[in-house]
Amino acid sequence: MSKVVDVKELTFSYGNKKVLKNLNLTIHQGEIVGLIGENGAGKTTLLHLLLGLLPTDRGIKIFGDKPGRRNACQRIGSMLQGDIVLANVTVTEMLYEAAAQYPKPKDVTELLQESGLQAQANQLLTNLSGGLQRRVTFALALVGNPALLFLDEPTVGMDAQARKMFWQQIQILRDLGKTIVITSHYLEEIQQTADRLFILQNGTFAFQGTFQELQNKYKRTIIHFRTKLTIKSFQKLAAVVAATQAEDWIDLTSDDGDATLRALVPFLPAISNLSIQRASLENIFLKMINKRGSLS
Ligand code: ADP
Repeated sequence: MSKVVDVKELTFSYGNKKVLKNLNLTIHQGEIVGLIGENGAGKTTLLHLLLGLLPTDRGIKIFGDKPGRRNACQRIGSMLQGDIVLANVTVTEMLYEAAAQYPKPKDVTELLQESGLQAQANQLLTNLSGGLQRRVTFALALVGNPALLFLDEPTVGMDAQARKMFWQQIQILRDLGKTIVITSHYLEEIQQTADRLFILQNGTFAFQGTFQELQNKYKRTIIHFRTKLTIKSFQKLAAVVAATQAEDWIDLTSDDGDATLRALVPFLPAISNLSIQRASLENIFLKMINKRGSLS
């Protein structure tokens, strides 16, 4: 499979502040990659570097070329944070204007339909709700028929229905073989969609791989049950790393689910409604950044 993005030993600073340190990453054609990290981890900076919006001398190849080159740019679509809302311009006019910048753009009428924007086609951008403006911004990212998409927090401001539609569009793009790099705070959605995860922490990748590989690395299990006993009875059981109680429901987070379950056996007569769950991406991510993982 061909390399679409190739980053080697990339370091970047704003003035004296080093934000990205010696990063290496390769993304192949057709992959959906989730870029995750706390606020300030450097996700947006990395996307801007890949897009050629910030200067680098070396370390990045996009379609085999330096970022920002016209040939590469024409094969890239991006949805950055914030929407461009020009005065006195309709949705259709904006899409035609953008389409004219690309050699083989999508058909604007089809794009309006695929994006659920037919009803707004002749509305002014300034009259749209925040969620609809976000949809237009996504349509603008797609108008050039890109092979590679960079999406920075694309679903912020979208309501539940718009988010669902967005992820359906991503599945269609996946089936078309597009390569997609996406950052989102909705970790459940990333867990369901991304083929590979890159977790940025303090300017370096704390993890690169599939969600299954991440789960195998952080062998976390959540054991959930109901009891009249107090949380103190369970806090020190084998492999329990966190315990939370809400009324008579208890969640135990375990580093070794089998060991904790064996230790729970004597308590079984006093326990009901027991369920066991492998850790979600959110659980693991919260552990990685040293915050208490909750059931998602
Ligand atoms: P993220 O997208 O993961 O929230 P950013 O890439 O926006 O992280 O920011 C990474 C770090 O770089 C943060 O500490 C942020 O304050 C800093 N930073 C971002 N943009 C600038 C800038 N233009 N000038 C100086 N520092 C910046």
